Amino acid sequence: ERTVSVSGSGSVSTDSERTPVRVDSQDSQVSDGEPGDSRWPRQNSLSMREWDIPYDELKIGEPIGTGRFGTVYRGNWHGDVAIKVLNMDYYLDDDKTLEAFKLEVATFRKTRHENLVLFMGACMKPPRLAIVTSMSKGMTLYTHIHLRKDKFNMNKTTIIAQQISQGMGYLHARGIVHKDLKSKNIFLENGKVVITDFGLFSVTKLCYGNRKGNGLSIPPGWLCYLAPEVVRRLRPQQNRDQEELPFSCASDVYAFGTVWYELLCGEWPFKGQPPEAIIWQVGKGMKQALANLQASRDVKDILILCWSYHSENRPEFAKLLMTLEKLPRKRLARSPSHPIHLSRSAES
Ligand code: ADP
Ligand code: MG
Repeated sequence: ERTVSVSGSGSVSTDSERTPVRVDSQDSQVSDGEPGDSRWPRQNSLSMREWDIPYDELKIGEPIGTGRFGTVYRGNWHGDVAIKVLNMDYYLDDDKTLEAFKLEVATFRKTRHENLVLFMGACMKPPRLAIVTSMSKGMTLYTHIHLRKDKFNMNKTTIIAQQISQGMGYLHARGIVHKDLKSKNIFLENGKVVITDFGLFSVTKLCYGNRKGNGLSIPPGWLCYLAPEVVRRLRPQQNRDQEELPFSCASDVYAFGTVWYELLCGEWPFKGQPPEAIIWQVGKGMKQALANLQASRDVKDILILCWSYHSENRPEFAKLLMTLEKLPRKRLARSPSHPIHLSRSAES
């Protein structure tokens, strides 16, 4: 058996109602946030066009790497940028999907936060679809933790988690569900957390057409971020419908729990286990054992709460932030010649 075929729809969090884009709605309504213009009328709205970067204006440089949705290039558009060109080998000529993509992109322009990558715009003329963001100069948490095997002390770990919570709390307040929070999408730039790729998961519908296998295709290192209610809805041959997975603010919190575990343990939960085993365990509500984790009760409680089987039991990021702030901190001897980068909240 490849999947646990029990429908988990009963446990979908009400948070999902805050997802700004309803793919199935014909007359999409996304609040613009600007006075006097409360609705996005149609694709040719003036404010939408601002974010329509002409493909010809983009100078595309060498590729940085390839992810699930396409390839990220170094580029230039009024300065250094990262350009994510969506993988469109097989373009779904589907106006509704494109419209949903445009609306989703429109919500990114509302994001202004220290801990979120700067969204500069999108190039939305099919078959050319690209997302342009500021270039992150640091390394991802994934690179730090899993490739370089960097160990963060508890203070640093807490500061990183606080910054992630701050960025995520902001996203949720704006009605944006990340859907792909993972250590590969979190950069550290001089001690500052920068989260990328929020909300992009839905574009899989636009670029998954080229996958035609019968199996359930699971990118490595993805499963352990998926909440039980999401895992229980995984189906083989679902590639085109993955945007229907019940992601929510609460499923983002689950993913945060996994990042917290990575920061603490230097590895992923369910390390070395085959996907089938992970799907079965998570779907049943079993968690990675924490017996070998040497950490205080408070630290482990964060994991347990974020990984709650029932989405409504998972804390919101605002609550997590308070919990993180209360974690006891070791006083570090600081000398002016050896400054330690601390976030504002950490200094209080
Ligand atoms: P993934 O997140 O799974 O690594 P992506 O397609 O998002 O896949 O990214 C591909 C590569 O591009 C990765 O190496 C990633 O670190 C890098 N990358 C993505 N966005 C940026 C950015 N804004 N600045 C610098 N590098 C980036
Ligand atoms: Mg990414």
